[in-house]
Amino acid sequence: MLEHDVIIIGGGLAGCRAAVEIARTDPSLNVAVVAKTHPIRSHSVAAQGGMAASLRNVDTEDSWEAHAFDTVKGSDYLADQDAVEILTREAPDVVIDLEHMGVLFSRLNDGRIAQRAFGGHSHNRTCYAADKTGHAILHELVNNLRRYGVQIYQEWYVMRLILEEGQAKGVVMYHLLDGQIVVVRAKAVMFATGGYGRVYNTTSNDYASTGDGLAMTAIAGLPLQDMEFVQFHPTGLYPVGVLISEAVRGEGAYLINSEGDRFMANYAPSRMELAPRDITSRAIAYEIRAGRGVHLDGSAGGPFVYLDLRHMGKEKIMSRVPFCWEEAHRLVGVDAVTQPMPVRPTIHYCMGGIPVNTDGQVRSSDEGLVEAFFAAGETSCVSVHGANRLGSNSLLECVVYGKRTGSAIARFVQNRKLPTIDEQSYIKAAKQQIQALLDQPGQYRINQVRQAFQDCMTEYCGVFRTQELMSQGLEKIQELQQKASQIYLDDKGTSWNTEIVEALEIRSLMVVGQTILSSALNRQESRGAHFREDYPQRDDENFLRHTLAYYSPAGIDIQYRPVTITMFEPKERKY
Ligand SMILES: Cc1cc2nc3c(=O)[nH]c(=O)nc-3n(C[C@H](O)[C@H](O)[C@H](O)COP(=O)(O)OP(=O)(O)OC[C@H]3O[C@@H](n4cnc5c(N)ncnc54)[C@H](O)[C@@H]3O)c2cc1C
Repeated sequence: MLEHDVIIIGGGLAGCRAAVEIARTDPSLNVAVVAKTHPIRSHSVAAQGGMAASLRNVDTEDSWEAHAFDTVKGSDYLADQDAVEILTREAPDVVIDLEHMGVLFSRLNDGRIAQRAFGGHSHNRTCYAADKTGHAILHELVNNLRRYGVQIYQEWYVMRLILEEGQAKGVVMYHLLDGQIVVVRAKAVMFATGGYGRVYNTTSNDYASTGDGLAMTAIAGLPLQDMEFVQFHPTGLYPVGVLISEAVRGEGAYLINSEGDRFMANYAPSRMELAPRDITSRAIAYEIRAGRGVHLDGSAGGPFVYLDLRHMGKEKIMSRVPFCWEEAHRLVGVDAVTQPMPVRPTIHYCMGGIPVNTDGQVRSSDEGLVEAFFAAGETSCVSVHGANRLGSNSLLECVVYGKRTGSAIARFVQNRKLPTIDEQSYIKAAKQQIQALLDQPGQYRINQVRQAFQDCMTEYCGVFRTQELMSQGLEKIQELQQKASQIYLDDKGTSWNTEIVEALEIRSLMVVGQTILSSALNRQESRGAHFREDYPQRDDENFLRHTLAYYSPAGIDIQYRPVTITMFEPKERKY
């Protein structure tokens, strides 16, 4: 059995920032980070547009209070305001701290960190490194892990959380290299396992974003919070779904329909293209539905709209958003200097997740906490994004709450003993689980089942939702679960058997998908990213509260918990 004082699952921004904080706070602690990819390949590396903080380098009128208000309004008032206050107050310090670690932010002419406009933010406050911000930050953080002697387990797949009597004790993990299964025990376990974009068929997320941490938590009997809130990013490149950063609109690009109109004037006249993502994505979906989308041959009635950068000019495009230009050029052959880009909404971010308090400690219910279990980043729900996240607030959340959680863990493990675990029983169960997958006399390929599942979630729980659609979706998922138990694996070996990992990931996708659907079905109102055509209004009286969904193979039990309101009373959300 392996042993560490702290084991962190996830080598993205949240996991790495927590590890650095633990090592800084108490260098004697033995900290390990596990990732199923190489940490530098975590989805954080793909973040483009930037990270919000009221540094006031560009806009001296900005303040943390203004940032907090924009965040709460953007969340459609579902965010917990104590958590938002921490996020926005601490933002400037964490940006400066990253800079001191070596992160190369883009600069103003006088050398200070540059800041750009972003959707839903009322001031220019997004700090960035061209359109490769995640890349710049994650590389420095991973370098720092090495500097502080954090042990890295790369390409290990964590398959189970060990939770006994309300206490997290460790994890069971599978080595992709040689199929070895090991148990790790630790004084504290932290999940920073990222999002679940792969639950849907078109996403900006990478292949590893399969919601494993969420599924393992749910299977262990703990609740997931606000899972119905799934963010569609307005501008996924058509047809691949790859992200064209909001920074492109922040730098001045227009959204245009088949009639050549900047249609956002009809949906959010005061913010236009820089309205929050839920509103902009729905606007694009409405335009496409109304026949004002575009076909690849330029005719009307097609499946996408245009993102037009041409008026920005070559120099600005190439210096501010060079990566987005390159993506469109490489993936769909569009030169954005002279041609508009084809875009439509793509699944991008999960607002919900593992419920935690502001120290990152996981909740077992509205009142209870799980001993020795922590979470941060996209997989967690603290909740600063409520029903809709503003762009550039997620990297910020990873760093602010990664740091806070790291600091809480460093305090928590002092004077604690390593837990006792019956290692052999966990190894045996994991081996049996994998052997069962290998022996399964199935008739379906992994890919077939996964695609059918992703199509189902996209069709039955997308931008527009109804009771009828989602009920059908839940039935379909049950059929697909049957099929998932009849997949067969070609590869029976132990060396780099990626099929085993994909089969385990399908289980995660299905648990997460089912939780999203059930939570969405129970929320009979429209709020933020969750839009019900049968309940088109927000209903504060009945639903100004967080959903807690408890998974079991028999079904999902839904409970609710209150929203923390400290600064801003809910009012109508208009832009
Ligand atoms: C294309 C794109 C652009 C974005 N741009 C921005 C932006 O400009 N600004 C912004 O604020 N936000 C942006 N976001 C969102 C933001 O990047 C993410 O929310 C954030 O980086 C998530 O970081 P994380 O540390 O929580 O998880 P991730 O970076 O997703 O890392 C998850 C880690 O968990 C590991 N892991 C998962 N499951 C397992 C398992 N079973 N076993 C072992 N390891 C596991 C993975 O290997 C990985 O190391 C963007 C997102 C995308 C997809």
